[in-house]
Amino acid sequence: MIKEIINEIKNADTILVAGHIMPDGDDLSSVTSMVMGLEKIGKKVVGVIDDEIPEYLSGFEAINKCVRDFDCAKNNPADLIIIVDASSPDRVGRVQDLFEYKRVIVIDHHATNLNYGNINWVVPESASAAQLVLEVLKELNVEYDEELATINLLGIATDTGFFKYSNTNSKVFTDAAYLVDKGANLNKITNQILENKPIEHIKLMKDVLEEMRFEFDNKLAYSTVSLEMLNKYGIEQKDTPPFVGDLRSLRGVEVAIMYNQAKDNEYHISMRSKSWFDVSEVAVHFGGGGHKKAAGFSYKTDNIEELMKKVSNFIGEKL
Ligand code: 5GP
Ligand code: MN
Ligand code: MN
Repeated sequence: MIKEIINEIKNADTILVAGHIMPDGDDLSSVTSMVMGLEKIGKKVVGVIDDEIPEYLSGFEAINKCVRDFDCAKNNPADLIIIVDASSPDRVGRVQDLFEYKRVIVIDHHATNLNYGNINWVVPESASAAQLVLEVLKELNVEYDEELATINLLGIATDTGFFKYSNTNSKVFTDAAYLVDKGANLNKITNQILENKPIEHIKLMKDVLEEMRFEFDNKLAYSTVSLEMLNKYGIEQKDTPPFVGDLRSLRGVEVAIMYNQAKDNEYHISMRSKSWFDVSEVAVHFGGGGHKKAAGFSYKTDNIEELMKKVSNFIGEKL
């Protein structure tokens, strides 16, 4: 599979690299690393994400340099699109409108991937998409410098919860060590992401804790962030903090859910499980996707209580 991808890349002059909407660290790392790496071997490349970049990732210069909005993709002459970290076509936003005109390579690590490209390299055992990008760039003999190594490490670090989630296998450390040997600065990444939270986020957390509920003997914990709560603290929707991890960290909680309001009548639901529960099944049932222990979906409704009840019922039968 990777050989086919290498051939396609070698035969293309201009390449569009795209990631998913509501971009996270792995997504932006994968797009940016792919763009930087392909540029190093002389390709004309543009990186595109059809969404805004969250504030906590905007401090990485390489990302700002390499990632553009959808307007840059619309009239791009590329005949090859490489999609990273996106399990279904709706996840790339309007970039999917270009699929019929171009060849599409999908590089992903979600077990729920729909194999929607012409070539689909999907490796669920891989902790991050960034590691698959590393494989490709190694295969192309790309010379890593400090900046590329650091941005490539970003995705491995964030998708493994900074080397502590259950997806943290030995390959994670081998790949991370390779990048650190090339000059990657893990401390820069941790400072930028973990030690740099806006004070408003902890104030919002107080309100989220007020809204917190438990069901099924505390095995399910959930809460919500409404647009009103965000407004109160002047936080933009794209910068909604990932409180779902804090809910999961509580003793006895197996499933944690955050209902984050995106628009008046739309929510993004972010789910995490601790040890055995498969939240990707829940996400797929409600039209989304993800991994066993981290999954999500978007849902149009103006009745959040009703949605919470539906989700709780679905989960309660399995808990
Ligand atoms: P998060 O809760 O951080 O938004 O997402 C957790 C995981 O679920 C990520 O791997 C993400 O790619 C996936 N995911 C989140 N939301 C959606 C969605 O709406 N659709 C799909 N297919 N996957 C999602
Ligand atoms: Mn992602
Ligand atoms: Mn990922």
